[in-house]
Amino acid sequence: MQLIDKIYIDGQFVTPHGSELFDLFNPATEQVIGRVRLADAQDAQDAISAAKRAFASVSRTTKSERIAMLKRMHEAVAAKEDELYEAITEEYGAPVSRGRWMAQHASNVLLEAAKVLQDYAFTRRAGTAEVVMQPLGVAGLITPWNSNAGFICGKLATALAAGCTAVIKPSEMSAIQTRIVTEALHEAGLPAGVFNIVTGRGETVGAQISAHPDVAKISFTGSTAVGKSILRTASETLKRVTLELGGKSPVIVLDDANFDEAVPLAIQAGFMNSGQACIAGTRILVPRERLAEFEARVQQEVALTQAGDPRDPNTTVGPMVSQKQWERVQRYIRIGIDEGARLIAGGEGRPDGIDAGWFVRPTVFSDVTNTMTIAREEIFGPVLSIIGYGDTEEAIAIGNDTPYGLQAYVLSRDKARAHEVASRIEAGRVLVNTLAHEPAAPFGGFKQSGIGREYGTFGIEAFLEPKSLLGVL
Ligand code: NAD
Repeated sequence: MQLIDKIYIDGQFVTPHGSELFDLFNPATEQVIGRVRLADAQDAQDAISAAKRAFASVSRTTKSERIAMLKRMHEAVAAKEDELYEAITEEYGAPVSRGRWMAQHASNVLLEAAKVLQDYAFTRRAGTAEVVMQPLGVAGLITPWNSNAGFICGKLATALAAGCTAVIKPSEMSAIQTRIVTEALHEAGLPAGVFNIVTGRGETVGAQISAHPDVAKISFTGSTAVGKSILRTASETLKRVTLELGGKSPVIVLDDANFDEAVPLAIQAGFMNSGQACIAGTRILVPRERLAEFEARVQQEVALTQAGDPRDPNTTVGPMVSQKQWERVQRYIRIGIDEGARLIAGGEGRPDGIDAGWFVRPTVFSDVTNTMTIAREEIFGPVLSIIGYGDTEEAIAIGNDTPYGLQAYVLSRDKARAHEVASRIEAGRVLVNTLAHEPAAPFGGFKQSGIGREYGTFGIEAFLEPKSLLGVL
């Protein structure tokens, strides 16, 4: 049982002005494993003031000074990989392979940002003008619970690469990961105020950051509903806003697909991060004439999918993060049944033999139509919908018929054909026959999956403003 009673402002661990204690759970056991003392709006203001003071000097640092800072941060976070992995397992319930990836991702993103910065030209020419890419100011960085450490490090890395300072509001449900990352970043010895970390509630700390006139930029990852409210609040002060929101990604299985490869890939795309992934492929579009064959292969594959103890190396689906999330997933499974979809795997309740923990049964529905609730709304759990289609045109139309547009997958033996289909999909990323991540490529959503892009040069530019200087050349 740990008590986390410090936040990080102006280079120091300080006791928050806020006094509310918030319970932290192990989702695999439902036991309280710790408590965090939450920051309040006053703490957020203090953090913003510190970041504003630091911006005056950080914005004038050279590229090589910032690269050196990012490398020190990378080393400090990498040194805590094992501790972070433990926290991710304990506090979030990520299965072994996922948890290890997440623990490494947190330090890797710092190095990736250093690489991008190395090659980035802050000054260029447009006609007779010199164009300088100038850091925006204080950045408010708000993260969700489904990859908290990675989002803290990734957003901070990009903000700092651009020359911005930061106030970070991590998910209140991930305070153990936040403590470890904060301690690591403190050890990297950056100037005071460059980054400030205030764990608190979204409605208080998050809202204060979104409204404060001294915050120039918000980078938010989380739900579409909260993203919209941040956009409304931020509009009062015309903040620049990057929103990474929800998804309902299609997996388009073309009629020539090899099911020995396509089915395992589709199941992994759907159940990744225990289904708690914005990029999860949750609508699987299958040619009607091969539907029965596909369903049979899916049943075999799901039977091999182990849901349960995240510490068991054979587990690929861990628990839902909270009771609220567990209940939400159960409700959607019930809605799917009530709306007439046909369960081909899983269903309501916990997996066989498990009677505690927020575990759900890996679930797949068939006979889903794209108008059903389970095909339209983000469930954020391991619940997939198979939707039959007639021809490729119909598959593309169904794929695009969603308010979201974060990611899509196209599976086919014919790469050129898959490429053509991918070019017609409205999504920020389309993966052809792969689940690989590319940190150099932009990431973000079309439509209600968000605004703006993260990663690579597009990511850096989201923290910069172009300024034209005339008469200087
Ligand atoms: P959430 O929107 O409930 O919370 C995200 C963060 O916003 C938390 O830190 C929360 O405290 C804060 N917040 C809540 N209300 C706020 C307010 N009024 N003002 C400012 N901040 C506020 O999301 P969650 O439940 O933590 O995460 C799950 C969601 O995140 C899913 O919808 C998922 O799709 C999305 N997500 C998107 C991406 C992406 O890159 N597109 C990645 C991961 C998760």
